[in-house]
Amino acid sequence: MARYLGPVCRLCRREGMKLYLKGERCHSEKCAIEKRNFVPGQHGKDRKAKLQGYGLQLREKQKVRRVYGILETQFRNTFEKAALAKGITGENLMSALERRLDSVIYRMGFGTSRSQARQVVRHGHIQVNGRKVNIPSFQVKPGDEVAVRETSKNNPTILAARDATAHAPAPNWIDVDRDGLKGRIQSVPKRDELVQIQLNEQLIVELYSK
Ligand code: SF4
Repeated sequence: MARYLGPVCRLCRREGMKLYLKGERCHSEKCAIEKRNFVPGQHGKDRKAKLQGYGLQLREKQKVRRVYGILETQFRNTFEKAALAKGITGENLMSALERRLDSVIYRMGFGTSRSQARQVVRHGHIQVNGRKVNIPSFQVKPGDEVAVRETSKNNPTILAARDATAHAPAPNWIDVDRDGLKGRIQSVPKRDELVQIQLNEQLIVELYSK
């Protein structure tokens, strides 16, 4: 599946906020938002228009897409499935994004960013319920056991990520055994247990409902 390969700090600057796309660097003074918090490009500093209506909805959608590192078509497909499911569409969408396997690995602390976690999955280091899964968009469900495969337990990237994220608590909906490099999904994440940044998914629902 295609993904964005350009400079990621630019994406944060475009949204005017930290999206936490670069792991530990995002918590340091090297973060581009700390140093240059204005829209990238030649006229970036002049772009101060207050957004409303369509512009606001579009920016919210782009922000969520960038946090999870997925392109438009896949995002739209995820939205359409969320709209067909029971419950509130915006919450279904956020829950589906958060239950992607790459996002779960990031939340468990076995990747310092979602993009690193995605690579860990793509390289075949992860198993779900004892079976290897290398699809980052794979949806986990309550009761699933997600683990680093036996052959990858000494992988330096995974071990370094686990150490670097030791300060970050895992969400309540995943029971993580950091020493055993595994965890079990306890429940579907609730809205207040989702992404760390402020998002208004209702604006995305409005955008796609036009
Ligand atoms: Fe770059 Fe992370 Fe800062 Fe975003 S939050 S600008 S990705 S260092």
